[in-house]
Amino acid sequence: MTNARRDTALNAIAPHLEAGLGHFINGRSVPGQGPSFDIIDPSTGDKLGRTHDATAEELNQAVAAASAAFPAWSATPGEQRKKILHKVADLIVARADEIAAVECLDAGQAWRFMSKAALRGAENFRYFGDLAPSAADGQSLPTTEHMNVTTRTAIGPVAVITPWNTPFMLSTWKIAPALASGCTVVHKPAEWSPYSARLLVEIAHEAGLPPGVFNAVNGLGETTGKRLTEHPGIKAIAFVGESKTGSAIMRQGSETLKRVHFELGGKNPVVVFEDADLERALDATVFMIYSLNGQRCTSSSRLLVQRSIYDAFVARLTTRVKNLKVGDPFDPATEVGPLIHQRHFDKVASYAAIAQQDGARIAAGGMPCPRAGKGYFFQPTLFVDADQSMRIAQEEIFGPVLTVIPFTDEADAIAKANDVEYGLAGYLWTNDVGRALRVSGALQVGMVWVNSENVRHLATPFGGTKSSGIGRDGGDWSFDFYMETKNIALAFGHHKIQRLGV
Ligand code: NAD
Repeated sequence: MTNARRDTALNAIAPHLEAGLGHFINGRSVPGQGPSFDIIDPSTGDKLGRTHDATAEELNQAVAAASAAFPAWSATPGEQRKKILHKVADLIVARADEIAAVECLDAGQAWRFMSKAALRGAENFRYFGDLAPSAADGQSLPTTEHMNVTTRTAIGPVAVITPWNTPFMLSTWKIAPALASGCTVVHKPAEWSPYSARLLVEIAHEAGLPPGVFNAVNGLGETTGKRLTEHPGIKAIAFVGESKTGSAIMRQGSETLKRVHFELGGKNPVVVFEDADLERALDATVFMIYSLNGQRCTSSSRLLVQRSIYDAFVARLTTRVKNLKVGDPFDPATEVGPLIHQRHFDKVASYAAIAQQDGARIAAGGMPCPRAGKGYFFQPTLFVDADQSMRIAQEEIFGPVLTVIPFTDEADAIAKANDVEYGLAGYLWTNDVGRALRVSGALQVGMVWVNSENVRHLATPFGGTKSSGIGRDGGDWSFDFYMETKNIALAFGHHKIQRLGV
């Protein structure tokens, strides 16, 4: 079964192996003319294939196609857009196993999570497709003198730039609402995991998306990504990635006054009080940091545990972490797969020495996996007895690495939870309703889950505060970003107008 899935993934990328993965512009595959670079299999460290950095000319063609397609697509009735987006969802479901297999191969993510992630990609298209017919709806805000009516129209061609951690699902999350609102798209997936984005753009065209509405270019951030964000034909940038890349993109887009939507890094606290259901808290803590190889923006990478239960909780946690199954991403039993790339592996691995220098203790892991070979497997790692001043408590490590910090009481928990530059998500475990309300109100984050792991409901706002982002995704919040709002004031005809020069 494991080998069959690997073969499925290899078959899916086979058409791109000889010439290298090119671009998809104006409804057709375009071979890349720019310099090529290798794509690496994270499980083996071997070359998987290669792709091409888009040339300036190729990028211009993609933006020109998105610009030419914009008037017709934005004028397409919402019901029609809905039909096409539903068809995209159906085709994703039909090819979910293939998509999941490509994610396992290209991004090193474990099958047990990727099979669901592909289906969540379909859900994104279905959900935003359903909202397409009402995306332009506005409000009526009458006064005694005027009837004010608001309307919304798609902003124009947009850039969508995505990272490598769950490439397919994250791309659908941005592209589905953009298309539903009537925008056209130029997508640049991450250079370390570009294959599933190619499946997505092909599926979208098979579903009947007109040429030029959705284009995909490959390439490096500093060249293709930069040109895309600077391009005057692009009206807004939906970006998911690191906080420092977000700053660069804001600078790059400033000359042309682009609207930006940023989903950036996190150092999310999970706060466990002594009165919590500790069994469930333990399950959720382990799941939220070690699933997806810890390469997850909403991972609970800082565990704050009340001092009174600290030793017992950490002992049980240590046993669970040592028990995690690291292995081949295609094996359904695997819980933790390889990190994405040698550069990322080196970064994650470097924190073991940093933790010890700063005075924390390594209770589990901290080393490359014995089974590593040339793959980028790192042991699930647990740093305990840490404090907020340490780098392991402040910096986003983005690997299967958890930092545990004790706290004394509610005020101490809140102070420690907020003592980071990030503010994406917070997780809170307590059976005291008043405390749940007080602490969730005080956390400086965009999202709080109480007595739960991260469970996403697409109608709710998703996004971060502080260095974790700008803007919200989900429900109507997505349309606010991809659309312009206009107010039309119609006089009832009897209000007094000042008469000058009479
Ligand atoms: P990254 O910022 O290095 O790259 C993300 C994308 O930006 C890639 O496609 C890259 O090519 C492109 N890019 C890089 N430099 C650019 C530039 N100057 N101009 C334009 N584009 C550029 O991020 P990554 O390492 O791929 O992903 C990991 C990061 O993503 C983590 O920080 C993680 O927390 C974050 N993330 C956030 C969320 C969220 O919802 N908040 C979700 C997933 C990942």
